[in-house]
Amino acid sequence: MEGTVIKSTGSWLSVLTEKGETFHCKLKGNFRIKGIKSTNPVAVGDIVGFELIDSENTGLIQSILPRNNYIIRKSTKLSKVSHIIAANIDQVCIIATLIQPRTSTGFIDRILVTAEAYHIPGVIIFNKTDLHKDKQTEQLNKLEKIYSDAGYTVIATSVKKAENLDRVKAILKNKKTLITGHSGVGKSAMVNAIEPRLNLKTREISYTHNKGMHTTTFAEMFGLSFGGSIIDTPGIKEFGLTDFSRDEIAERFPEMRKYMHQCRFNNCTHVHEPGCAVITAIENGNVSLSRYENYLNILTDDYWEKTEKDFRL
Ligand code: GDP
Ligand code: ZN
Repeated sequence: MEGTVIKSTGSWLSVLTEKGETFHCKLKGNFRIKGIKSTNPVAVGDIVGFELIDSENTGLIQSILPRNNYIIRKSTKLSKVSHIIAANIDQVCIIATLIQPRTSTGFIDRILVTAEAYHIPGVIIFNKTDLHKDKQTEQLNKLEKIYSDAGYTVIATSVKKAENLDRVKAILKNKKTLITGHSGVGKSAMVNAIEPRLNLKTREISYTHNKGMHTTTFAEMFGLSFGGSIIDTPGIKEFGLTDFSRDEIAERFPEMRKYMHQCRFNNCTHVHEPGCAVITAIENGNVSLSRYENYLNILTDDYWEKTEKDFRL
């Protein structure tokens, strides 16, 4: 039998078949995937083959289909071991807010860089527009331009006023979307507004209930009645910028990627080199300063100093 992993809570995985049946599955003993050091060999979004055991809805996972992509988080900054958050994703949707709470562009760009590394398209939703005063409206206009010029889909929403939720639905339809964002930006409210039967709040309460038992929170996939599914990642604050090296960061900024082949030196880091086409593009207003600053932040993050060697592929 074959199905998609929709939930993983340690040793047990929920696997949904095409027929819509859910099976509780365990991994076959000493199950390993070559080349991946991970605390969880199988993650939400994986397509697995399994055999039924014991009772009718319990199974043993025998195989895993090759992944299109996967997003990981490292257990600790220095750890070589990573945790796979989700696999086989069609797009990453970042829910951000300019106020209550304020999401930094650094956070947005780190997630986009991670998604770019796996060629996963990014969507940015700026929620809570109902709270915007002139200042935020002005900021939003700038950010919409920065990110749409860079090639990302940007949607401004208010869950409270039910504004632009139809656009969110259209973007999610028939895709597997990983939803992320700081706590409090309205992820649950958004999901409940477009799919009321999911009622994500209720689930949060039961999670708190089990706090002592689970120190890690787990991703979970939910089907959408209008087609497609979302992967919710409660408690996951940051994705690991792993699996690629420092000299590949600029390529993960699509608007920088457009210019970097024109740099005088082909090992240009776009920081101080003469004849840098990226810096010229910034001066000409073709690459935004905010994105470039975040590029520099990622480039100079001491994270790279410590872990680069371990993660160079
Ligand atoms: P999550 O932590 O990202 O899942 O955020 P929640 O969905 O729990 O929402 C956090 C708070 O923001 C709740 O009090 C929501 O009612 C509120 N909220 C969500 N969307 C909006 C919005 O568009 N406008 C306003 N004003 N509040 C919102
Ligand atoms: Zn350059």
